[in-house]
Amino acid sequence: MKMKYDTVIGLEIHLELQTHSKLFCGCSTTFGQEPNINCCPICLGLPGSLPVFNRRAIELAVSVALALNSAVQQKSRFDRKNYFYPDLPKGYQISQYDQPLARGGYLEIEFDEESRRINLERVHLEEEAGKLMHAGDSIFDSSYSLVDYNRAGIALLEIVTKPDIHSGREARLFLEDLRTLLLYTGASDCKMEEGSLRCDANISLRPVGSTALGTRVEVKNMNSFRAVEMALNYEVKRQEEILSADGHIIQETCHWDEEKKETIPLRGKEGSSDYRYFPEPDLLPLTLEASFIEKQSALLPELPRQRRVRFKEHYGLNGKEATLLTENRTLGDFFEAAANDYSDYRNLVKWIQGDLLYQLRESGKSVEQIEPGLLVELITLLNNGNITRPVAKELLAEMVLSGKSPHKLVQEKGLGRISGQEKLLPLVDRVIAENPEAVENYRRGKEKASAFLVGRVMALSGGRADPEELSKLIKGKIS
Ligand SMILES: [Zn+2]
Repeated sequence: MKMKYDTVIGLEIHLELQTHSKLFCGCSTTFGQEPNINCCPICLGLPGSLPVFNRRAIELAVSVALALNSAVQQKSRFDRKNYFYPDLPKGYQISQYDQPLARGGYLEIEFDEESRRINLERVHLEEEAGKLMHAGDSIFDSSYSLVDYNRAGIALLEIVTKPDIHSGREARLFLEDLRTLLLYTGASDCKMEEGSLRCDANISLRPVGSTALGTRVEVKNMNSFRAVEMALNYEVKRQEEILSADGHIIQETCHWDEEKKETIPLRGKEGSSDYRYFPEPDLLPLTLEASFIEKQSALLPELPRQRRVRFKEHYGLNGKEATLLTENRTLGDFFEAAANDYSDYRNLVKWIQGDLLYQLRESGKSVEQIEPGLLVELITLLNNGNITRPVAKELLAEMVLSGKSPHKLVQEKGLGRISGQEKLLPLVDRVIAENPEAVENYRRGKEKASAFLVGRVMALSGGRADPEELSKLIKGKIS
């Protein structure tokens, strides 16, 4: 009989905090500059230089920890993590080891319509390493590497989950929800493509029913949420095959190869004892007053989950609508501003999730660039019968592009609804005369033929004819 296995996954997320200067010095954190210009004796670890805390980094770190329900410690400590690799000019990284900034915590995610709590181990602060650029196509056959220390010393937050995740898809959902939450706090821009949000995973399998953890493999170099899901699914299959053939998993670090879609062993995994952590002698322990932590807590914005609940209760939205509107803080803000002036909330959501989001994607604009009042104006024009639905859709596209008032656009372009027999009849007569076949079909009982004729008149009127009146007129004329 084939053995069944449970998948056990823990994630380590690294997050660059959005500060102007680095964690222990005044160097700029601006992305994409000429290599090695944002460096000083402190971030290069030159003899005699002394690190100094960046207060803003600590504020942001505490606010993220609080948003994740993690217990912020009033006393934490920084340690030197020693390792030899050229991305670190100092030969060690200032990090936190046995006294992290915050302990525990959790994030609730929706998984298969059910709420799942992913527990956290810890949240701690450390400094970012420099960036290596390997010559050639791959890290494995590179003949040399270039190093850029602009990134070295940027404030980095590490969030470590407990091994609470059980599939690649669950890992992806967790990361997506985490990213949404982090964007709400404003602590990071969470750009995976620029490396300000990164994720490593530890993954092991164990026989169903067993409580002991299997040998774990660390997977690195996953550069998108999709890559995380794919890499973990790949590892599950790989480990399953080895275990099913009575083989052993080797504890190692693997590199996800995006081209080959497989994990490739990189190096043997160090145990923490290999890093010879010891307290950073140049920094005092970090002591946070209770009032400082309370203040950060008070400054937290409403978080996505709370907002989702409020949107459902207050606006009567269903789960899907509330989720859509809270996935992105600015979209929710847009909805609330519009809902101030328009009380058919469900209808408002329909416009936002359908036509508005579509037009934003098409035009490459973001929702912040659109005035919420303009959408309300457009819907009101339609509701009052001033314009037809096809015209409303056309106007929305125009409004997103130009930012002009729909009311003005209707006047400027003469897009008002055409109604009344005297205006519609000439169009109807013309279409009937031009389409004898459809008229004949309708008379023989083909209902669809009238829809075709309505469509012809609509096209002729540039979508402006009143569709209901039109339908009655046509049927009256040809039956
Ligand atoms: Zn510096």
